[in-house]
Amino acid sequence: MGRVAYVNGRFVRHEAAAVHIEDRGYQFADGVYEVVTILGGDFVDQPGHLARLKRSLGELRIAMPVSEAVLKLKMRELVRRNGVKDGYLYLQITRGVAPRDFKFPKVSKSALVMTTRRQKFAPAMPNDAGVKVVSVPDIRWTRRDIKSIGLLAQVLAKQAAAEAGAFEAWMVGPDGFVTEGSSSNAWIVTRDGVLVTRQPDGSILHGITGNSLEALARERGIKVERRPFTTEEAYQAREAFLTSATTFCISITEIDGRPIANGHPGELARTLRQAYFDYGLKRQAQPVAWKQ
Ligand code: PMP
Repeated sequence: MGRVAYVNGRFVRHEAAAVHIEDRGYQFADGVYEVVTILGGDFVDQPGHLARLKRSLGELRIAMPVSEAVLKLKMRELVRRNGVKDGYLYLQITRGVAPRDFKFPKVSKSALVMTTRRQKFAPAMPNDAGVKVVSVPDIRWTRRDIKSIGLLAQVLAKQAAAEAGAFEAWMVGPDGFVTEGSSSNAWIVTRDGVLVTRQPDGSILHGITGNSLEALARERGIKVERRPFTTEEAYQAREAFLTSATTFCISITEIDGRPIANGHPGELARTLRQAYFDYGLKRQAQPVAWKQ
């Protein structure tokens, strides 16, 4: 069998994988998701991703479709069947299939869908020249702490970035402060070497990668401040970078057409990328705890 997907209890051919048109995920984006990196055949930060998954579901009162133990078994089995050494697993849970009606259905069974994709990861910065970012207004709802599958604002932001020749869009609130990237968390390093990223208070998705990276930075004696910053502050920063499960940590060398520092990837981002890579390969005996 070629590529395999998991759909509501069954492993099926990826091309034939489908859900019902009245799945509430399809109708209302009534569901949540997670993306978990696979490195050297094993998951990176799986406990954190599962903790956030359960929290997102709880906030929306969607039931876990299977126990956590069964979910872990199925995740592993899908990776095995697809022979993925390096890549990621996408997991989505919706409130399930019911006749279209906004309020929660009286009876519904949460739907679980999982796919995997191969992707090579390298400890070195993937793009030696770094990546470009453009800022866009943050037009999302106010529950960004929930990893909702309703991603239209992010689709538009990422498209705007692509059309501007940039890798990512940094979303900026009406108060002028950067919230986060369309699919990543936003970081800067101040002139005195302090790492700055926004506090996880509902205004952003509390990234699993950033949470672990923060712990790795603190272990190395680097000062971390969780606070908002403006694009102006970012333009003047010593370094800027982004974090997410599928990118780890990538240097940003240009924001809104302005080069950051000398326009080359910064040292701290390189160090932390390497640190996260090494942490990911360590079989995760002691993963960093994640808590909202
Ligand atoms: N913020 C947003 C809006 C995201 O979509 C993501 C990626 N899922 C992140 C932050 C980073 O989260 P993580 O490190 O858990 O991938």
